[in-house]
Amino acid sequence: MTTAIYPGSFDPITNGHVCIIESGLVAFDRIIVAVLSNPRKSALFTVNERIEMIRESVGKTSDKDEVRRSRVEVDSFEGLLVDYCNQKGARVVLRGLRAVADFEYELQMANMNRHLEPNIETMFIMANDANFYVSSNLVKEAAKLGGEVSRLVPPSVGPKLYAKLGR
Ligand code: ADP
Repeated sequence: MTTAIYPGSFDPITNGHVCIIESGLVAFDRIIVAVLSNPRKSALFTVNERIEMIRESVGKTSDKDEVRRSRVEVDSFEGLLVDYCNQKGARVVLRGLRAVADFEYELQMANMNRHLEPNIETMFIMANDANFYVSSNLVKEAAKLGGEVSRLVPPSVGPKLYAKLGR
């Protein structure tokens, strides 16, 4: 069974993240969506809130819901990603690529992780057209300024985002 770890901040999960999870299920038997718990980085949502939103968002788009849900696990981790992968027995890190801007950062991360643990490979899935410009940060920025972003995030996320921002 091939397991991939899909790590990120997911603050909050967007349609772009959901798309990567769905595409990832084509290649991997199991995906562990791992929310990075980073005390040094301020987040809008708590780790538990982010985990709950990811759980609510996975497997809601097809009639194969049950099968899909059973292949996606949601968890959180602290510290080195490669240590977490080893702990979970996973040899693949899954990441999404959007514009060229993502490339340099992702290349650095992938190479650092390979340096730390040569047995773990990072694999990338390209963002699709609809989600090419969607990021958690931009969604939050636009929502803060009064923009309508509900269509860029899973159905349960929009109301929580607006509630958090006091709108
Ligand atoms: P991080 O803080 O580690 O960048 P994010 O939650 O922002 O975490 O993203 C996690 C992963 O998902 C990253 O690989 C990021 O490039 C990818 N990703 C985020 N948004 C999209 C999107 N719209 N389409 C494809 N991949 C995305």
